Amino acid sequence: MSKGVRLSEKWFNRALWLVAFVFAWFLLGLGSALIHDLPHVEQSYTMDDFVDHAIIDPLRTQLDTLQQQHRETSDKLDQAQLTLNTRRNDYQSMRRTFENWLATRDVTQQAQQDDELVKRTAGLDQLKALERDAEKAVETLSKTQLDQNQTEAKVREQVKQLEDTAYKQLYNANQKQATRVFLYRLLLALPLLAIAAWLFAKKRKTPYWPFAWGFIIFALITFFVELVPYLPDYGGYVRYLVGIVMTVLGGKYAIGALQKYLEKQKLAEAQPQLLRREELNYDTALTLLNKGVCPGCERGVDLKDARNDFCPHCGIGLHTKCGSCGTRNSAFSKFCKGCGASAKA
Ligand SMILES: [Zn+2]
Ligand SMILES: [Zn+2]
Repeated sequence: MSKGVRLSEKWFNRALWLVAFVFAWFLLGLGSALIHDLPHVEQSYTMDDFVDHAIIDPLRTQLDTLQQQHRETSDKLDQAQLTLNTRRNDYQSMRRTFENWLATRDVTQQAQQDDELVKRTAGLDQLKALERDAEKAVETLSKTQLDQNQTEAKVREQVKQLEDTAYKQLYNANQKQATRVFLYRLLLALPLLAIAAWLFAKKRKTPYWPFAWGFIIFALITFFVELVPYLPDYGGYVRYLVGIVMTVLGGKYAIGALQKYLEKQKLAEAQPQLLRREELNYDTALTLLNKGVCPGCERGVDLKDARNDFCPHCGIGLHTKCGSCGTRNSAFSKFCKGCGASAKA
């Protein structure tokens, strides 16, 4: 990256950063479209894939039949109960009528009414018998219902055990599948990180740096953000381990770069100042001077001091007098600000 101070250059740099982010955004879009299509390669299992259908299917059919029978028995029982209630009421009301009649008869003592007594008693007995029949029907149906309930509970338990086993197998299969999917994704994401590292080391200072940075942003987001929802139980380890390795490598690189920079500065400071000044980038030098920093050694200097013609730290010339008109100029200026003469002359 150039550290130019020209106004347009600054704006071009901002635009190029925008290019980097847009490039990263499109890469991310493409990447997530690809990654989201990955699980379709895998089968999606259900519990039914893991049960022995030769065993469970007849049991399920039996259960269905039992439930059907259970419902039918229940309906019949309701009907029988209703019948029983009706007959009980019939008997009770007939009995009350009979008792009233009997009371009247006791008072009048009419002997010719004996036939009537026999007839009424027989009618009452008949109603009682009907009531007992209804009671028996209710009892039989209750017994049937109990038997059916017990059989149903047994079959249900068998089915449940088979299904529980199948659910465990389903869980294991899904775990294995999740691991597989995660590994596919890791296989895609790790090379991206490697390419990003290479781009960072080799290409970030070339004129094509926006693409390098765009790709680096894409790779980092893909690995540390996009991959997260697909992490299996141990996925956190992979993520943090890769993070640690990257930090260690990055740190080592930064330490190496610092050592190299210090070496270079030492060598530069040992050279004659004219040569040093020529080696410095004009724009970089201006940026540093604006910040009150010596372009030669990058240490702070007081540029407003009128006598500060040389850097007190490294001895590089900071101000010179124009050869033609004697105006005091920055030593890094290319032309005299008083007469416009070339500084070289
Ligand atoms: Zn200096
Ligand atoms: Zn001049």
